Amino acid sequence: MANMATYHSTRSKAPALTSKEAIRRGIAPDGGLYVSDALGDATVDLENLADKDYFELAREVLGALLPDYTADEIAACVTEAYEGTFASDELTPVVPLSCAPNADNVPAYVLELWHGPTSAFKDVALQMLPRLMARTADTDTDCTATADTGATAEADTASASSPAPAEKIMIVTATSGDTGKAALAGFADAPGCGITVFYPEGKVSRVQELQMSTQEGGNVSVCGVRGNFDDAQSAVKRIFADRELAERLAAQGVRLSSANSINVGRLVPQVVYYFAAYAQLLRAGSIEPGDAVEFCVPTGNFGDILAGYYAKRLGLPVAKLVVASDKNNVLYDFLTTGTYDRARPFFTTTSPSMDILISSNLERMLYYLSDGDCELVSQLMDQLAQGSYEVPAELLAKIQQVFGCGWADEDQVAAAIKSCWEANGYLIDPHTACGYHVLADQPATPGAKARVLLSTASPYKFPRAVASALGLFCPPSDFACMDVLAKATDTTAPEQLATLQGKPVLHTDVVDVDGMSAYVENAARAL
Ligand SMILES: *Cc1c(COP(=O)(O)O)cnc(C)c1O
Repeated sequence: MANMATYHSTRSKAPALTSKEAIRRGIAPDGGLYVSDALGDATVDLENLADKDYFELAREVLGALLPDYTADEIAACVTEAYEGTFASDELTPVVPLSCAPNADNVPAYVLELWHGPTSAFKDVALQMLPRLMARTADTDTDCTATADTGATAEADTASASSPAPAEKIMIVTATSGDTGKAALAGFADAPGCGITVFYPEGKVSRVQELQMSTQEGGNVSVCGVRGNFDDAQSAVKRIFADRELAERLAAQGVRLSSANSINVGRLVPQVVYYFAAYAQLLRAGSIEPGDAVEFCVPTGNFGDILAGYYAKRLGLPVAKLVVASDKNNVLYDFLTTGTYDRARPFFTTTSPSMDILISSNLERMLYYLSDGDCELVSQLMDQLAQGSYEVPAELLAKIQQVFGCGWADEDQVAAAIKSCWEANGYLIDPHTACGYHVLADQPATPGAKARVLLSTASPYKFPRAVASALGLFCPPSDFACMDVLAKATDTTAPEQLATLQGKPVLHTDVVDVDGMSAYVENAARAL
């Protein structure tokens, strides 16, 4: 059992937790994110990669990263999460672009990650997380034994001594648009769980808002916040760090956890599709075994691209991971200068899920690329709380070897949607378009045999932005825009988006940032 407990905070090495405990807790009490020093010890066997389907790869990757789950548990999670939930046999199909976006002529492919129930890539992880979470329930007593905070330990001991009612989990999530719906779809009516989703009011697309406000389920709460995503995400982190709140909730048998990519259970399932993409390229004869592949990833909270780094550590031949940002280009500035400065204007763009200035998972990247220097990570995060930090030059050089970067302003996003359509007859959403712009703008990494653009959402999630980029007439209703788009491009909207307009709105709550904590406590009381 000892070697199973490899997870700890990015900000301190103790205590060691199993992956089940890390998933159940979501975020460490010191504000850090859970990481495992065993990353890369177990690798994925590349020998017969081309023969492996998504389910097999998922079992292998999850098994390598979550060693305390039994093989049977992992297999059950994979089946429950992915059987019949995605509208593609490959789950995440790779589609060739007929025209290489850049004059270097390295072939480019799109990895479509949006065939799940809510039409965004987050479904891949959020169909899985509730299954993983459900199997952490028997870790209650272990959690108590390793609890490292005096305040919560006391409450935990009290609940552990009376074994009767099982501890319930309240998932609390801040969403920039897509996580919310994907988490709601995953956790609605999940036994032993409730879910509360906060989104920045007026800063998500109409389709995204309706997806959330029409969500059914006896255990769901959806609430607008007067502020932007960073305000909401920071408040959620404060809620997790609030020991007194944790104590009051523990007395009611409730523990808070996270469905954001700060939860390692959200991150791990995303590692799988990097391998799945590579396997498909092998099967299609597009690459040979061992060929290096560049991945370009539309990025916000750095979860999706960090999963690519995990894939690299598990042995995948990754030439480079290219961060594509929108006009909120804080990561571009960081990756080019080494200074991360969040004190800057915030832009609301057509790619709302990337409108982020505090990119949470960067903390995990800093941990790994500094060779596990918790002290440095702690210092940097303290400085970030004040506004900015600068990484040492050697660390920046290491980061730049692994990660490339680029960004697109709003005009470039629209132009990318148009030129991708004109060159390839292929429709992309504004998030994916940031990546397409970066691919077109920069030559491939030397040595890369293929470039894979991760497509993070269906274009029909953002019909107004996509239709107007194509120069089409956009009626006032987003659903009418979907029709215009479908007719003009001879494509069809995913059914779960097209049918949204007939659904009753069930959630209309809006609170100030200061009211979020009380809102969570109320929702927990109703669990
Ligand atoms: C969440 C999201 C992103 C950003 O992903 P991160 O893991 O936060 O970097 C990009 N595109 C879409 C459509 C998303 O929903």
